[in-house]
Amino acid sequence: MPGFYRFWVGDFEVTALLDGYTTLPTGFINGYDETLARSASSRAYKPFSPVGIPVPINGYVVNTGRQLVLIDAGSPKAAGAGMGNLTSNLKAAGIDPDAIDVVLFTHLHIDHVGELSDAAGNRTFTNATLMTAEAEWEFTHDDAVYRALPENFRPYVDISRQIVAPYASERQVFTGEVDVVPGITSIPLPGHTPGHTGFALHSNNESLLIWGDIVHLSGLQFAYPDWGVVFDADPELAKRTRRAMFDRASTDRMAVAGMHIDFPGIGYIERTQQAFRYVSAPWQTAR
Ligand SMILES: [Zn+2]
Repeated sequence: MPGFYRFWVGDFEVTALLDGYTTLPTGFINGYDETLARSASSRAYKPFSPVGIPVPINGYVVNTGRQLVLIDAGSPKAAGAGMGNLTSNLKAAGIDPDAIDVVLFTHLHIDHVGELSDAAGNRTFTNATLMTAEAEWEFTHDDAVYRALPENFRPYVDISRQIVAPYASERQVFTGEVDVVPGITSIPLPGHTPGHTGFALHSNNESLLIWGDIVHLSGLQFAYPDWGVVFDADPELAKRTRRAMFDRASTDRMAVAGMHIDFPGIGYIERTQQAFRYVSAPWQTAR
């Protein structure tokens, strides 16, 4: 069944693409407490398993009218069963991979670089320029960082490096808060990785912040924003960034979208007495 959903942000046509899902073992959650997790899941109307939590994976295509921009590319099929469907869902949505002008990355973890290229080094998006924060590119390709990783995490970095390599010579990097393409602004959200970046879409007085991996576990982290994942490069900074983002999104009633929020992953954040709560965006009719 194709997994795509089309909506509008001002005059920008946005297509949410479902890549699939993975299951995060509960042992990979920093701060985890089973009793609290069970009650938070219940309050969020989510099923609960003490073994692992399903984590959906999304990407987004933005047609700005001038450019076709893919934001994150999902997972490679090799990452596991249930993943690696973003490119087929892109095609199902009527978008030719050759028509993509820019692939913007929130960060370069394996579940975001997708099937950007095949094992032989052929590019899936033949006409696209790869864009990341400069810090993200450096972090992914830093051998000292690589050597400091637990041995079982290194193969994930190997795959990311291999998948982005065919785009390396023509890549573009950015730093800080800048217009990466007309109508899309980079918002540094460091912690999960040093170059982790959100992208704010602005068109015709409407906006949407695509916040990448501020949240991996939507049934748990809105209730317990201090819980993180073992893949957070700087757990303390990831926590602070998440809390600051929740504060801002709830205060400003911002529309946000996340790569690991239940498809299509678009919604709003409300403050509760103890923490926060996620509210899905209403369905949009076609234009
Ligand atoms: Zn991720």
